[in-house]
Amino acid sequence: MTSTRALLAEVHACRLCEAHLPLGPRPVLQLHPQARILIAGQAPGRRVHESGVPFDDASGERLRSWLGVTAAQFYDPRLFAIVPMGMCYPGTGASGDLPPRAECAATWRARLLARLSALELTLVIGRYALDYHHRGDGRSLTEQVTDWRAHWPSRLALPHPSPRNNLWLKRHPWFEQELLPVVRQRVAEIGARQTQESRRKPASII
Ligand code: SF4
Repeated sequence: MTSTRALLAEVHACRLCEAHLPLGPRPVLQLHPQARILIAGQAPGRRVHESGVPFDDASGERLRSWLGVTAAQFYDPRLFAIVPMGMCYPGTGASGDLPPRAECAATWRARLLARLSALELTLVIGRYALDYHHRGDGRSLTEQVTDWRAHWPSRLALPHPSPRNNLWLKRHPWFEQELLPVVRQRVAEIGARQTQESRRKPASII
């Protein structure tokens, strides 16, 4: 089997949908086989495309605050894997960023996720990731977030942390008041376990 390092090199060399990408290919992801929490997101925005760092924007700041983690914890690949549905910036349309390129998940997603054998929690962010990870569940994002116990504690649907969703957050105050404390506790427990175990055994080579 290809090593994870070789697979990541293949991804970073991908030009499959180049013709549709206004700023060209630049896959942005974070992946280590020992990661405990997967963030299944949408696609990088323009700022993330420029920095090459996942969630290096206002959405990322809010997401880290939702999860109760520091940037150092968030960017520890042995704690968080970050694999969006489309790994390159898809461009912007009249009402915000365009959808992730569908060929991206079709080509790469199953191969990348197969590397994550230590996952304890998957955070599914936004409509496109929900359609992939909750296939067959035709309910709206709001219904699936409200019914958060359905896949807990291994999987959780979240709204996108973008400032564009401020209205959603205002209309659903229970999300921040009741659900986020539960999420923070679970993330903290996983993080503490990961720290203890990584002290006992060094990180494997990918
Ligand atoms: S979005 Fe995905 S499929 Fe398209 S070029 Fe980037 S990595 Fe390749």
